[in-house]
Amino acid sequence: MLNEKVAELLNTQVNKEFYSAYLYLAFSNYFSEEGLNGFANWYRIQAQEERDHAMLFVQYLQNNDAKVTYEAIEKPAFKADSHMDILKAGLDHERYVTGLVNNIYGTAYEGKDFRTMQFLDWFVKEQGEEETNANELIKKMELFGSDPKSLYLLDQELAARTYSAPSLTL
Ligand code: MG
Repeated sequence: MLNEKVAELLNTQVNKEFYSAYLYLAFSNYFSEEGLNGFANWYRIQAQEERDHAMLFVQYLQNNDAKVTYEAIEKPAFKADSHMDILKAGLDHERYVTGLVNNIYGTAYEGKDFRTMQFLDWFVKEQGEEETNANELIKKMELFGSDPKSLYLLDQELAARTYSAPSLTL
């Protein structure tokens, strides 16, 4: 049996991960409209990963005989006055998600729910990587974003990103 409070937070996290996917799909649309198909590809793949995260939480809950409830997914909210706004909104969002994961971890720790702590270890590491990736994208845009030729090359680089399934299996 999972700790009741932990199970509730994990169920909320399912919704948060689906929201992340939704947000990144909206980012992808923004870049498609701007003609930056590499950036659009990068965020489309990011959205795929977020759906995977949601499903990992679902699977974990189901494996532990906990009820899964799908709530309404919020409309993506972000400011899009420039390309950089989107990238920064991405980093802010990942920091927010890191806080959510840490909060579940803390609650599992308090409840001596060692199984959930072990499950969440992968997400703690993953959030570190997500923040690094979001930061690197901002740095590249700062360096190269104002020069059209460099932006073209950066877009080409991001077009090469391919999807790979998460390394965590349950
Ligand atoms: Mg995620």
